Amino acid sequence: MASLSEEHCELNHGPETSHLFTPAIDYLIQPFGYTVSDVEEVSVRDMIVPICAECAKALQGNEWTLFYCFECNSSHWIYRKHARLRYRYNVLWLRGCPECTKEFGGLYFSDFKGLPEETYFLSQQAVKKIV
Ligand SMILES: [Zn+2]
Ligand SMILES: [Zn+2]
Repeated sequence: MASLSEEHCELNHGPETSHLFTPAIDYLIQPFGYTVSDVEEVSVRDMIVPICAECAKALQGNEWTLFYCFECNSSHWIYRKHARLRYRYNVLWLRGCPECTKEFGGLYFSDFKGLPEETYFLSQQAVKKIV
């Protein structure tokens, strides 16, 4: 993992902003794994996405839901008030999206029962370890 100060936000900030580099202030972390049995879950890898202050704020609020495809690392935001469906998750991890495949592989959280409903931030994990 590179130093956070050298990272920029990898989330989508809207059309024609991909050339802009927004300094990252935190990492969004998502463990991916599979269930072996009722008691055993295997974490294959952690998805670690540098995020900026603005995105961190949106991920902790109630107005936005982030769709993140871990096949191609593309992302987009849904403004919940304008969405047809009611989203209560801050992040939905997609296995495949229109950017990388015609085939939608599903939402990841439904496959991994140990997944926390809360959004993970590296800085918060670090705080927990100290306490
Ligand atoms: Zn951002
Ligand atoms: Zn994709």
